[in-house]
Amino acid sequence: MIHRNPRLAVLKAGYLFPEIARRKREFAAAHPEDPAKPETRIISLGVGNTTEPILPHINRGLTEGARKLALPGGYSGYQDEGLLELREKISGTFYQGVSGGPFSADEIFISDGAKCDIGRLQLLFGPDAKVAVQDPSYPVYVDGSVLMGAAGPWTGGGYDGISYLPCTAENSYFPDLSKLKENSIFYFCSPNNPTGAVSTRPQLEALVAEALKKGCLIVFDAAYAEYIRDPALPKTIFAIPGARECALELNSFSKPAGFTGVRLGWTVVPKELRYAGGESINADWNRVMGTIFNGASNIAQAGGLAALSPEGLGEIRQLCGFYLENARRIREALEKPGVSCVGGDNSPYIWARFPGRDSWDMFAEILETCRVLTTPGAGFGPSGQSFIRFSAFGHRADVEEACERLGRLKL
Ligand code: PLP
Repeated sequence: MIHRNPRLAVLKAGYLFPEIARRKREFAAAHPEDPAKPETRIISLGVGNTTEPILPHINRGLTEGARKLALPGGYSGYQDEGLLELREKISGTFYQGVSGGPFSADEIFISDGAKCDIGRLQLLFGPDAKVAVQDPSYPVYVDGSVLMGAAGPWTGGGYDGISYLPCTAENSYFPDLSKLKENSIFYFCSPNNPTGAVSTRPQLEALVAEALKKGCLIVFDAAYAEYIRDPALPKTIFAIPGARECALELNSFSKPAGFTGVRLGWTVVPKELRYAGGESINADWNRVMGTIFNGASNIAQAGGLAALSPEGLGEIRQLCGFYLENARRIREALEKPGVSCVGGDNSPYIWARFPGRDSWDMFAEILETCRVLTTPGAGFGPSGQSFIRFSAFGHRADVEEACERLGRLKL
């Protein structure tokens, strides 16, 4: 018999979202939905999955990409690091005019999404990496590190060996950087999932300065950058001088263009980035991607090109605007004594604090009282205790109904 990778046994429990789905199933079995009574239907404001159809211009890009594959002159096979045209377009659209940009095409790697890249990135650093995360954080940074062996067993508040830097109301959801250990890999997400907080330029300047001083690498996750409406807030870490020497950036078409199921993302790895031994991180990423990834779908990339045309960028703005309006409504519905919220203005997440309450208990109470599914903050890290994450990804009618039902909460 073969042996199981022992690192799988270190993972504490099921991944957060399967666990929520399990609890929803249990609740629904005990309280079945009655199609004749719409009020018995469970509405999800839980997961960060997009719900609205892909808009017409971007969709035409996808269908045209598929159509071309049937033509002798239009067929293409493996795409390796991604269409040159798409890499150039990404550089011109998102990194032109920022201090670190633009990037050459061989600094931009097209992928099947940011989550997959986060998983593959761990191969660059191996089991001896010192990992730091914002607490709370998107679970993949921590769970991926555990699978790689870069974390020890669960010790109550978190995994041994991972530095959790609390982001709480007390520090305006930006970590105390003096706690960042030397030579660590710091997964940093802004606009943040789950808190919805967006780091300001001075905060990101402090982050870059600290990383340069301490020899850290920032893995900057900008998956929600297109939700930023305030022009003073940076959409990329490369808006900060010095970032080319200490940061790489993940991004994705999932949340701005509705590509969660289409699968398309990119990673920017500047050539300046080096390990302690002087080797190029860019060259290693190229090697890792070439070894265990065979390129993003050519259909998805055709959609990506359409998304970055003027019409496509207009549709991205429209789609993000739709979800931001949902977020505004949810936040308004939560404006009541006993709860305080952040996020939802430049991000699709609202992070609601219920002081003194356990977040899984609060999750259960909202499900039972309102039949609204949410995400318990404790699932994102120790500092998420007493919080609930509300997601603005939903159909408008569902969000309106959920907001009305939230009025039933007695706090
Ligand atoms: N990064 C963050 C912070 C996310 O919240 C998500 C998805 O929820 C991802 C990355 C994954 O993006 P993708 O769909 O490109 O894998």
